[in-house]
Amino acid sequence: MELWQQMIRDSIHTVDQLVEKFNIDRKVAEDLDEFFQARINPYYFSLIRYPGDPIWLQCVPDKAELDDFDGEEDPLMEDSMSPVPNITHRYPDRALFLVTSQCGLYCRFCTRKRKVGDYEKISMKGLESAFQYLEQHTEVRDVILSGGDPLMLTDAMLEKILQRLRAIPHIEIIRLGTKMPCVLPHRITPELCEMIKKYHPIYVNTHFNHPWEITPESSRACEMLANAGVPVGNQMVLMKGVNDDPAVVKELLQKLLKIRVRPYYMYMADETKGANHFRTSIETGIEIIENLRGHTSGLAIPHFVIDAPGGGGKIPILPEYVIHHDEDKIILRNFKNKVYVYKNYKDKNNPGTKKNGKTSGKNSKSKIKEIDYSKIELPILEEVES
Ligand code: SF4
Repeated sequence: MELWQQMIRDSIHTVDQLVEKFNIDRKVAEDLDEFFQARINPYYFSLIRYPGDPIWLQCVPDKAELDDFDGEEDPLMEDSMSPVPNITHRYPDRALFLVTSQCGLYCRFCTRKRKVGDYEKISMKGLESAFQYLEQHTEVRDVILSGGDPLMLTDAMLEKILQRLRAIPHIEIIRLGTKMPCVLPHRITPELCEMIKKYHPIYVNTHFNHPWEITPESSRACEMLANAGVPVGNQMVLMKGVNDDPAVVKELLQKLLKIRVRPYYMYMADETKGANHFRTSIETGIEIIENLRGHTSGLAIPHFVIDAPGGGGKIPILPEYVIHHDEDKIILRNFKNKVYVYKNYKDKNNPGTKKNGKTSGKNSKSKIKEIDYSKIELPILEEVES
């Protein structure tokens, strides 16, 4: 058994352990176990500095999870966009492929907790129909392996999946969505890196949320992946008490760059059942991005997005830098709130001229004008408020 597997085995996961280690009332611990089981491996547990700190909040079950009646089991509607078991196909040229239900840590904010940890819900039996779907759908050029965490598979099992995907000519890119470099970095071994190298281009999206997660062990893991030619990006979720502070986020993103991880996305927390207590305001997120843009390298600045409820996909949110925009000019403010005018270039291929009273052209301002808002279906107010 490898060290990382031993650490999974030694994880805190029983009701007795929750009562003993975290002083949780037994009945509450039983209800939490029923709602979403715990798994806290010894490495991640060692990062906790005091009760209720940003590491604790992410992994220790909390009674607040049971008080959330508003959240959705599947806020991103992944299951309704699943043409065959284990596949979610939301975007035109890429597909999500769930290859295991297991993770190195069960994160309390997880958006897929309806499936994570349940061998029945992400089953190995679904792999064959998933491969066949990917073989038949020639528009899919990018496959994201997820779960659970694909690095919970052994090297041999993961290699079988990579071999099968690489045999599909239209699949150009394979991505691994894995939290292991952050939560159990011992999983990144020289043998794993040697194996992955055979199937390039492979990208890794990992998931650090707080600067305390950047340790000698996690730094080494990310550098090993980078040395194996794997570009590593980070997806961070904005969470109350964890990272809803511009200084914390800036420190995290700058430290990620030092270990060769490129900040990729910063998400608003999903409207997931049991995770309401993690949610922050959109203004908090905008303030964080405002405090980054201009104040640190663009390399450190992720796309700030909302993964739209109902399966709308990732939609970017930006602080308002455009003060005015017409056919002749755009008036902008910079990060110091100084105002600048940029004169428009009259592009004969994209003139933005008026036709039938409407402005046309390829620029986004024109496209906004062309939207007929009367045709947009809005949610019924009672449903939003219920
Ligand atoms: S590692 Fe990812 S899939 Fe697993 S519990 Fe955490 S957020 Fe959910």
